[in-house]
Amino acid sequence: MNYWINDISLANKGKTEVQNTLRDMPGISEIRKLFEGQKPFKDVKITGCVWVTYETANFIMLLKDLGANIRWCSDNKYASLDDACAYLVSENVSVFAKKGMTDDEYYECFEQAWQFPNPDGSISGPDYIIDDGCDITRFLHEKHPDVMSKVRGLTEQTTCGITSLMKLYADGKLLCPAFNVNDAVTKSKFDNIYGSRESLIEGIQRVLNVQIAGKKVIIYGYGEVGKGCCQTMKGLGAHVAVCEIDPIMAMQAHMEGYEVYDRDTASRTGDIFITATGCIKVIDREDILKMKNDAVLANMGHGNMEINTEYLNSDEYRKEEINPLLHRYVDSTGKGLFLLCNGYLVNATGGAGHPPRVMSITFSNHFVALLSMIRNPEVYSDKRVYKPTRIQEEFVAQLNFPDLKGKLIRLTEEQANYLSINPNGPYKREDYRY
Ligand code: NAD
Repeated sequence: MNYWINDISLANKGKTEVQNTLRDMPGISEIRKLFEGQKPFKDVKITGCVWVTYETANFIMLLKDLGANIRWCSDNKYASLDDACAYLVSENVSVFAKKGMTDDEYYECFEQAWQFPNPDGSISGPDYIIDDGCDITRFLHEKHPDVMSKVRGLTEQTTCGITSLMKLYADGKLLCPAFNVNDAVTKSKFDNIYGSRESLIEGIQRVLNVQIAGKKVIIYGYGEVGKGCCQTMKGLGAHVAVCEIDPIMAMQAHMEGYEVYDRDTASRTGDIFITATGCIKVIDREDILKMKNDAVLANMGHGNMEINTEYLNSDEYRKEEINPLLHRYVDSTGKGLFLLCNGYLVNATGGAGHPPRVMSITFSNHFVALLSMIRNPEVYSDKRVYKPTRIQEEFVAQLNFPDLKGKLIRLTEEQANYLSINPNGPYKREDYRY
C-alpha cells in the first residue's frame, strides 16, 4: 500500500524524535498510566486529520495502544514531518501524509484516510473523526455524505474549524455530533496563546532570517493567536501595532500598550505583517499595493486564505523562488515583497509548530472528548456542537501538570460552603471567563 512516504529509512530518526518529545507531554504519559492494561478504544475506527508532527505521532500511538483502529491524514500540505510519518508507518499505522503535497495528493490522502477495509473486502467509514480546521469533515460532508452520516462523533481542534461546524449546524447540514475541543479553556488559552507565542518566531526565522528588534510589526487579529504573536514580537523589541474589527479586542490591545492602526496606516507603515484572524483576504490587493519594498508577509491563521496569494501569483508580479517556503514577488515598479510559506501557517509550515507541552494539553482534550462520546453516546446524541464541561477541563489540566497536584489548596468545609463549591470541583461555573 502507498503510504505516501518515499523514504521509510527515516523511521529510526522519527522514532528517536517522537520518543524524545514525549518527555514534555505529561498528559499522554498520564493517560497511558491511567488506562494501563485497558483498551477503551478497542476496535473503534478513527480517522484523524491533523498534520503529523512528533507530538501528533505520540497522540496517534496512544490511541493505537488504547485499541483504536487508526487511519490518518494531514490538514496541511506542507507541515507534516516525513520522519514522524515514517516512524508511524513502521509501527503499522496507516498514515497518508508527507511534507509537501500537491492538491491532488492532499485530497487523495483524505480519500485513503476514511476508507477502512473490512475482512470481506468491503470498505466502511470511520466511527469517529479527529479534525483540525474542519477539513476532512467538510470534505466528507460534500463528497461522501452517506459515510459522514454514519460517523458517531467528531472532535474539532481549531477556531476556524468551529466556525465551519457552526455554519453547518446553523444550515441544518451537520451530519454527526461534534465536540468543540478548541473552546476548551485548556486548549484556546494554552495552544492558541502560548503555543503561538513560542512557535511564531521559530517559523519565521527558519524561513527568513530577519531581525525583529526595531521593526514595525502589524498583527491582524487580537484574539488568542494574535495575543501570543504580539507578546513575542514586543518581547523581541519590535514596534507592534494591531488591526482589529472588534472594539473590545482593539481596546484590550490598546490597554496592553499596542498601537491600534487602521488598515491604510498599517499597510503603509509595516515592515512585517502577520495575520491571525481566521478570516479571508485580510491582506488584499489594496493593502499589498501600499506596502513598502521588501515587506514580509506571514500568516498564523488556518489554511492560506488570510493573505490574497492568488493576487500575488497573478501576472502583475514576477515570482522569485528563494526556496520552496520563501518567495519574493516583484511588481512592475521593482518593488518586492517576501511571502513566507506560501501564505500557510508560518509556525507549522516553516517551523516545527507548537511545543510538546501545549500539544499534550490539546491532544488530552481530544482524548477526553472521544472517551466521553464513546462511553456516553446518549449524552452526545444530537447532531450539534458540544462544549467541554468544567470537570472535563479540570481533568485535562491535572493530567498535564501532575506536579501541581500536591500544591493545590484544598478548600475547608467552611470555605467550600461559603463559595458553594464542591471541594472536588468543578471550581468555576460553566460561564466563568478565564
Ligand atoms: P479568535 O477568534 O480568538 O481571534 C481572531 C480575531 O481576529 C478576533 O478578535 C476577530 O475580531 C479578528 N478579526 C476577524 N476578522 C478580521 C479582519 N478581517 N481584520 C482584522 N481582525 C479580524 O481566533 P484565534 O483562536 O486567535 O484563531 C485565529 C486563527 O488562527 C484561526 O484561523 C485559527 O484556526 C488559527 N490558529 C492557528 C494556530 C497556529 O498554530 N498557527 C493555533 C490556533 C489557532
